[in-house]
Amino acid sequence: MMETAYETLPEVEPAEAKASAGTLVMKFGGTSVADPEKIRRVAARLVGARRSGVRVVGVVSAMGYHTDELLALAHEVSPRPKPRELDMLISVGERVSCALVAMAIADLGTDAISLTGSQAGIVTDTVHGKAKIVEVKAHRIHTALDEDRIVLVAGFQGVSTAFDITTLGRGGSDTTAVALAAALGADACEIYTDVDGVFTADPRLVPEARKLHAVSYEEMLEMAASGAKVLQLRSVEFARNHGVKLHVRSTFTDEPGTWVREEDARMLEKALISGVTHTVEEAVYEVEGVRPADLFEALAAAEVNVDTIIQMDSRIVFSAPLEDRPHAEEALGRLGARFSEQLGLGKVSIVGAGMKSHPGVAARTFATVRDVGVEPKFVATSPIKIAFYLPHDDVEKAVRALHDAFDLGSPEAERRHA
Ligand code: ASP
Ligand code: MG
Repeated sequence: MMETAYETLPEVEPAEAKASAGTLVMKFGGTSVADPEKIRRVAARLVGARRSGVRVVGVVSAMGYHTDELLALAHEVSPRPKPRELDMLISVGERVSCALVAMAIADLGTDAISLTGSQAGIVTDTVHGKAKIVEVKAHRIHTALDEDRIVLVAGFQGVSTAFDITTLGRGGSDTTAVALAAALGADACEIYTDVDGVFTADPRLVPEARKLHAVSYEEMLEMAASGAKVLQLRSVEFARNHGVKLHVRSTFTDEPGTWVREEDARMLEKALISGVTHTVEEAVYEVEGVRPADLFEALAAAEVNVDTIIQMDSRIVFSAPLEDRPHAEEALGRLGARFSEQLGLGKVSIVGAGMKSHPGVAARTFATVRDVGVEPKFVATSPIKIAFYLPHDDVEKAVRALHDAFDLGSPEAERRHA
């Protein structure tokens, strides 16, 4: 298996690297294309953008819960479907929606062509289920754009260096869109979704949460890694590495959403904290008597994405995504490690670029949670994040208290340009 440790700038063959200013990549999530009426609305939006004069590349997710349904079907047929065949199957969802959008665009009198990831030149490594993009050979897209067509690309998939169909991990259409925006030199990558943007907290928990006007790549990375579901983590990484400006906005309105871009003064000064994120279920493992090098090598070999790591003498506590749990347990078993899983924990994180230069954020965070009677179990930080694990029944209380303590319900929290 050939895995790339990080995603390099997708190569664009030199002859194609023509000036492509005026290109827009527009990505639509599963709820945006959930039924025929919505598909027609997406088509109309793409045509509207084309008529305004820009070259348009549309990337779509599978309709509604189509990917989940295909996955369930696979598991009804086979207890352990082979990863190669699973990718062959679940890549179908995006082909369906992509072809339907192209049909609807034609009905509006504009020429469109749908392409699979493979046809669009998206080349990946060979890790089925979470492949990484190694190259984008965009000549077919360029040709179609030159012919004045709207190009629809099936999200979430590519073709591996071994010529198999691969998928990019759940939520991977975001990464398809960002990779295409980088490879085509697009002005921006618009991510259309069923929420209005990125909020200072989950509005279902905190009704006074504000829609952020702008967040930095680093903040968005931390937020996506700690519970904000609006963007796939890898797509944000890719956007940061290639300077692709993202605009996360609602499919159902014309309101501007949230820009994800380089850090600027408003992020450092207007509001120290960009948001409070949370998860209600975390897989936290406590391991005893294994050297860290051996432990993390085994986890890496099992394709487990380790998140937080805390070591005290011979005890190591780490967390990993829930979906990696079977692999993590297998790896720990194989090592013969003594381990236990901490169940019933959630995680609350506060994220903000301004934290770097303003003392007292940690003090205020922990005083706030203490005052509402919450006891953090483990704490993990980065220069722009303070995260703590806590019993999941306490998550809501802690999120609300912190949102309040950092004034995130105030207009300044939105970080608009003056
Ligand atoms: N359809 C895929 C998923 O459900 C990819 C995506 O929506 O971005 O994960
Ligand atoms: Mg998504």
